[in-house]
Amino acid sequence: MDHLNHPVKSNHAARFNFKENVTGALSNLQLRQNLRAAMDTLIEKRRAVFQDADEIEGLRNQGAAIKRRALAQLPHLLKTLEQNLVKNNVKVHWAETTDQANQTVLEIMRSHKATRLVKGKSMVSEEMHLNAFLETHDIESMETDLGEYIIQLENEPPSHIIVPAIHKNKDQIAQTFHDKIPDAPYTEDAEELTAIARQTLRHKFLKAEVGLSGVNFAVAETGTLCLVENEGNGRMCTTVPPVHIAVMGLEKVVEKVSDLPPLLRLLTGSATGQMITTYVNLISGPRKQEEKDGPREVHLIILDNGRSRILADPVLRETLLCIRCGTCLNHCPVYTRLGGHAYGFVYPGPIGKILTPQMEGLEAAGVLASASSLCNACEAVCPVKIPIPNLLRRLRNDHAQKNPKPSKSSIERIVWKGWQLMNTVPMVNTLAARAGGFMGGRLPKIGPLKEWTTIRTAPRYARQTLHDQVRSEGVEDA
Ligand code: SF4
Repeated sequence: MDHLNHPVKSNHAARFNFKENVTGALSNLQLRQNLRAAMDTLIEKRRAVFQDADEIEGLRNQGAAIKRRALAQLPHLLKTLEQNLVKNNVKVHWAETTDQANQTVLEIMRSHKATRLVKGKSMVSEEMHLNAFLETHDIESMETDLGEYIIQLENEPPSHIIVPAIHKNKDQIAQTFHDKIPDAPYTEDAEELTAIARQTLRHKFLKAEVGLSGVNFAVAETGTLCLVENEGNGRMCTTVPPVHIAVMGLEKVVEKVSDLPPLLRLLTGSATGQMITTYVNLISGPRKQEEKDGPREVHLIILDNGRSRILADPVLRETLLCIRCGTCLNHCPVYTRLGGHAYGFVYPGPIGKILTPQMEGLEAAGVLASASSLCNACEAVCPVKIPIPNLLRRLRNDHAQKNPKPSKSSIERIVWKGWQLMNTVPMVNTLAARAGGFMGGRLPKIGPLKEWTTIRTAPRYARQTLHDQVRSEGVEDA
């Protein structure tokens, strides 16, 4: 539990007010409509590629076993990865904090007198708040993933770890392009919008001195960096500029090349409902003398940012199994109503609820662990079987122990007494069930219930209790 008390806090933590964020998100009907439409599509696409229940269960077991094996020997694998990368002429840098990682990027840029950087999608770079950092040093950092490009135009953080602009619909994106890109006409045609972005970004790729990318998996036995993407921008970032910097969290290492196929199948199927992404990039070093293209220099920055302390906790370490597929977000009844911005930190949804309190500390972000109905949907879909609800319970307990609640109010005491009676005295239980059947859908939107009833669909209880129903069907009630 030590890392929960001594977290790696971001400056952002102090400004975080979850309750305000939630109220704002829930009252934004456009946001809720956009999220619902996007989530339905993502859920359906995932279902279509994982139709065979036995196959997906087998794959999930395999994926979980691979990642558990990697975590069990993480220090050794990281050392092997470094040795093999160095053999491949990749320069490896270690960063304990995001500040150190940012500083390393800056030093590499300065050593090349570089002022322009193009970026592929990378959640670790979001964790580092790299764009804002580089801006303060007069370096242009340009997002080239279409979703990231859209939110960069609006100066917003990602709302989803795979689909950063998921909170926006086509009309809103059309307006953003028209407002923010010089001479861009207003169009809602997806192909035309993409062409506008492509035209702008092509110049950036050609002029940038450095390209930066994330890493999906790093293979220790060969020193290979694996990156998946659909737009080709990742390949442009890693091959066109003369210098490539990759950034990764230290949990991204896997042992063998043969670990990749099942993990890739799980990642792409869960994230975007694809059997495989359009591009799978395997980077094993800078351009060789006889080769015509590719960067002349490749760097890898391996970021800790609290991960090794998470690893030391025998229960919470399972958080590090995550392959950042985002499917737990798509299936979460809380995320799908709030979107990512309400969570206030880089990682939203179920994975954010377990990762952020550990990175930022319970005091700053422990409240996130309570934003769950513990419905288990996240665990049921997680491709590497992270027991998210268990981890949430553990974090809630730790948070409650650190912040003991003041003694219960008299209203709370009465409510709990009533609850106890209802569940221990059969006659009270029967009466309460009948009252519930009558009250369903009629909950008052006033008084202390207001906060709950004004933003939720009132439950419709059955008019008859289960016992009455089975009796009326002629079934003997035991
Ligand atoms: S916790 Fe599981 S489902 Fe969620 S992003 Fe990570 S791997 Fe995907």
